[in-house]
Amino acid sequence: MRLKIGVLALQGDFAEHLVMLKALGVETSEVRLPAHLKGLDGLIIPGGESTTIGKLAVHYGLLYPMREFGRSKAIWGTCAGAILLSRDAHRAQPLLNLMDITVARNAFGPQIASFETRLYVADLSLVDPVFRPFRGVFIRAPLIETVRGETRALATLPDGRIVAAREGHWLATSFHPELTSDNRFHRYFLAMAAATQSRQPSAVSRQLFPPVSSDRVA
Ligand code: GLN
Repeated sequence: MRLKIGVLALQGDFAEHLVMLKALGVETSEVRLPAHLKGLDGLIIPGGESTTIGKLAVHYGLLYPMREFGRSKAIWGTCAGAILLSRDAHRAQPLLNLMDITVARNAFGPQIASFETRLYVADLSLVDPVFRPFRGVFIRAPLIETVRGETRALATLPDGRIVAAREGHWLATSFHPELTSDNRFHRYFLAMAAATQSRQPSAVSRQLFPPVSSDRVA
């Protein structure tokens, strides 16, 4: 079945994700309201400003529906999106509280300290057997300080600091694959979304996030 992937389009670089997904032949939609989550196989939360995205998500009543969506469907957060996926960003701001990671915002300094570096991501061989480094574009990026529980680090900097992680059907990257011409991370996420297509929420996630009527996707 053809995949349909939504991109949260409240603020940030959602357009670049949409371009990449369309080039991969995926059906896409821009998510601005809870009703837009319906029928999606996965959701991407783009880079931007996590506080702004979080506040807008609260304003449009999207925070709890997105959390509920994430119980059974794939979510990928890039940069600010990774912050939103986390359970802890060291400060009070609206978060989805899904991934068992702690992130440090702006861990590499201000905007002018943005940088690019080669990343060696073994998991990408699942979508492309030709092994080559991935160009990591870091723009006022967060660091994934700690991964706990089922969460696995997917990519680290040469000094061991974590910049990509996966927990089941949730993916977090500190950097911006949508700003490169390399679509391997997008294909990796599509494989994750495809795997959740026919699955029901697990007993564990039901326990962690028991359904409440106000949480329901409209
Ligand atoms: N610095 C931003 C934040 O903390 C993230 C930057 C980005 O998404 N490129 O929300």
